[in-house]
Amino acid sequence: MAKNNDSKYSELSPFELKNKLINLAQSNTDHTMLNAGRGNPNFLATIPRSGFFHLGLFALQESEMSFSFVPEGLGGYPLHSHLLDRFEAFIRDHHDQDGVKFLGKALSYVRDQLGLNAGQFITEIAEAVLGCNYPTPDRMLVLSEEIIKTYLIREMGMRGISTQDFDLFAVEGGTAAIAYIFNSLKENDLIKKGDRIAIGAPIFTPYLEIPELNDYELVEVMVEADPDKGWQYPERELRKLEDPTIKAFFLVNPSNPPSVKIDDHSLAILTDIIHKNPELIVLTDDVYGTFADDFRSLFAVCPQNTILVYSFSKYFGATGWRLGVIALAKDNVLDRKIAHLPPKEVKALDQRYSSLTMQPQSMKLIDRMVADSRAVGLNHTAGLSTPQQVQMVLFALFEMMDVQQNYKAMLKTLIRRRHAALYHQLGVDQPDNGNSVDYYTLLDLESICRKLYGDAFANWVLKTQDPLDILFRVAQDTGVVLLPGKGFGVLHPSARASLANLYEYQYVAIGKALRDLASDYYSQFKQSKK
Ligand SMILES: *Cc1c(COP(=O)(O)O)cnc(C)c1O
Repeated sequence: MAKNNDSKYSELSPFELKNKLINLAQSNTDHTMLNAGRGNPNFLATIPRSGFFHLGLFALQESEMSFSFVPEGLGGYPLHSHLLDRFEAFIRDHHDQDGVKFLGKALSYVRDQLGLNAGQFITEIAEAVLGCNYPTPDRMLVLSEEIIKTYLIREMGMRGISTQDFDLFAVEGGTAAIAYIFNSLKENDLIKKGDRIAIGAPIFTPYLEIPELNDYELVEVMVEADPDKGWQYPERELRKLEDPTIKAFFLVNPSNPPSVKIDDHSLAILTDIIHKNPELIVLTDDVYGTFADDFRSLFAVCPQNTILVYSFSKYFGATGWRLGVIALAKDNVLDRKIAHLPPKEVKALDQRYSSLTMQPQSMKLIDRMVADSRAVGLNHTAGLSTPQQVQMVLFALFEMMDVQQNYKAMLKTLIRRRHAALYHQLGVDQPDNGNSVDYYTLLDLESICRKLYGDAFANWVLKTQDPLDILFRVAQDTGVVLLPGKGFGVLHPSARASLANLYEYQYVAIGKALRDLASDYYSQFKQSKK
């Protein structure tokens, strides 16, 4: 393979490079393509989906009943009167269906465990599933917000924080959350051109790419996790955040691609840092938090400084649903910073939001995000579609009702078996890390070469082979698609393999293909010594 690939492709985001790798992997008809480049899971939660579809049938029946005097095909809103009774009858009549049984249990969970009004709950989700009204309130449906808050409190380790302490904005997946947050931070002068922004690396590539756009022109300061410390951030790296010229810290936790959660020691250091730099804005993207044991989000540790992004895409296998939330504490540093902006900027912001409220200055940042997400003028049609909010609620209830944690245990077993299969075939010990969730693995070129054939070989590979060429060759010769770690800000030559999107036997095949390729390189190395 020609070396000039590097200059041509090294600037591309790994996700764009992926298309080139896929073409190469498909070009050789001797093998089938194994695409381990995607984060998209190949598993999905079925029961809450079944609940969604059955709920849809119930709501449809209600709609038809409320307009029964007209010809077929036209329905009305579900009638509120005795709706709960009819829903309970529906549950009794169809109890042999898993999804219906789940709905019945969800209803009692919402009433008995969460203390919410069952009739109000059924009214909210039966109307929402039909999608017959604009989302109202636009930020999030009322009981849906309450339920998702409880879910986050449990899954994100938010001990001591109650549902009254924060707000949620339901959005179209984690990616919409990221785009909305960046935009509103900019529009509200919380980040300005030339500001210094710290980024916890390695990281999901958009966090590296967005700040460089000319919309933002931020100066990036890297906070590097250390592979030799199990991908934790060393204290000296974290201490960079004490510098008050650093306006914000962007973090993915558990990380992507190392897939490691920040440990308690580092969380304690971060708490101390916030005392020293109390204005620091933290954006934590915790979409993999649900996969971790005893997870604790930075949103739990320093809620006043932190914007939380969570997505249902990965854990429930729901990337096509586009379900995510932004969480922000009611009492937070960001709103205080907006209140203390220079008078000229305050005036401009008053102007920006004046069509929505008589007191723009009392408009919370999270509500500004809602407005900004629809160019302010279209605020009245903002919000996540109501059927999407219903599926989100059913996912969350499913997880909370699973007191034995069966679903979580199944996912962990599935992913960890794939991890073990890959490394076993490759012939190197699998990285052993108690903080890892193993959603991805980083295949480190140097350490794999060293373990397989010793130091001299590893040094030769690093000196003579271009890591990107190796990935091109992996794709062409074996059909395996891996993404370069470099694009995610990994400093050592490495490749990211997702453990979520292929079957176990395919990870066996990947391990073997990589092993064979290493053996080829080794022959080349021996040849070069002659
Ligand atoms: C997958 C992923 C997202 C995007 O999630 P969606 O909800 O599918 O948009 C966001 N952040 C990280 C770190 C991810 O890995």
